[in-house]
Formats: sequence, C-alpha cells, structure tokens
Amino acid sequence: MKQCINCMTRLPRKEVTEVAWCALCSACLRVVADQMKLVHDRPGGADVQIRQCGWCGVARSCGAGMRTRCLVCLDDRSVPDPAVQGNAQRLELDGTWRENSEFLAATTVKLRLAKYFRPGWTVLATDVHGLPWTGYRWLTKSHGTWGRNDETGEVQRLKRLRGETTLLYLVRYGKVLQFGRGTEDRVRAHVSQGAVPVLVLSAPSQQVVVARDRLKRAHRGEMVSQRTPVDLFEALPDGLDVTDRFLPS
Ligand SMILES: [Zn+2]
Ligand SMILES: [Zn+2]
Repeated sequence: MKQCINCMTRLPRKEVTEVAWCALCSACLRVVADQMKLVHDRPGGADVQIRQCGWCGVARSCGAGMRTRCLVCLDDRSVPDPAVQGNAQRLELDGTWRENSEFLAATTVKLRLAKYFRPGWTVLATDVHGLPWTGYRWLTKSHGTWGRNDETGEVQRLKRLRGETTLLYLVRYGKVLQFGRGTEDRVRAHVSQGAVPVLVLSAPSQQVVVARDRLKRAHRGEMVSQRTPVDLFEALPDGLDVTDRFLPS
C-alpha cells in the first residue's frame, strides 16, 4: 500500500502516481493537472525543466518530462501535516492551517533562492524536497537552483557563492523573523526576496560565526516568531550597526 501525500488516502501502489518526489492519488492529481506551465525547457541541454505555477506564480525546477506541482500551493483536498502545523504554532502564525503551510513553504523557497543570489543573475527557480507538504524533512534531493544571466539571457544551474561572512543579520519575512550570517550580497538577496532588514551588524568573521551559533542554540533554529526578542547586540557586543546600507534610499 502507498499513501497519497496530499489527502493521505491509502491505496495500492499501482493507483498512485509519482509527482514532485511524492505519491499522489488520481483525484489529487486531477486537481493540479494544469497547474504548472513550462517556462524553460532543458536549459543548456540539462535534463531539467523550469515550470511556473499558474495559481501563485512561483517557479520550480523539475526533471524533464516528470510530473510536478507547485512548491507552495495546497488545494481543497490537502490535509494538514502535523510537523508543519507544529512549526506554525511555534512561529505564532495566526492564519488557517492552509494559509500557515503555504506561508511557510513560500518563505522556505525565498530563503533558498536568497542563498543563490549573485550579482548579474536573476534567480529563477529551485526545488525543495517535500514541499508543499512537508518542508521540514531533512532530505536533500533537488533538481537544483537555476538562474538567468541578466546580460546574455542564458539559463544555468547556480552554485552557492561563499564570500567572507562578516555580517550578522536579522530580517523580517512577513510574519516571521529570520537571523543568520552572511555577506552584503546575502543580505541584499533577502531584501530582493521581500525581506525587511531589522538589524545588520558587522564584525570580524570569527565573532560572527560564534554569535550566530549562540543565537541558533538559544532559539532552536534561525526562523522565529516576530514577537521573539532576538538580541543581536547581546550576541555580538562589538558589532557595528550597518543596517542603513540595506534600507531603501
Ligand atoms: Zn490524494
Ligand atoms: Zn503555486
């Protein structure tokens, strides 16, 4: 027996279809049959397609010819995942279970896209295993993160840039706060994904690493409720406030 990940119905193996790394029953499959539109077919000859959700506009990378669905949107047949609802509760989200799930999925996608930001490129799409149903299983299967060169229009699989991380930052994504360490480009990438910079401190790289790890232990993760007091100055007393650099001029 297999279980449809969307409506949780248990069915014989031959009655489910593989969609976006998971199994769907035929009723759930029909709901999203026309959801994803092809926008880039096998860029650079890679065995990948980039498809965009016609419901919310978020794009995703997927194996060429494979069935997929939106990383964010759930539907009327979806049932809540207890782990995601636990996270929503921890983050004090006040929407319906579906709104909270979709918000967490959309934020997870934005955080992933921000990690691949590089000057001169537009990050187009990524693929997070488990979304839109269960963003918090630590599986790393992915069809990669893809971007378009702003000058040539070429679409390519992106690698993460690793610059010297001398910033400790706190940004707000809608109803949640996210802290982390990174370069100026990383903070700008969060802003380009819609985050609002709350506080950005600059300090020697080693101090930033220690401060981030302390905060992460104290808050059990890097995403916290917007009502959680996250004290960057306490974690990084010698940090220089450079928030101004990231505010809209
Ligand atoms: Zn189903
Ligand atoms: Zn969508």
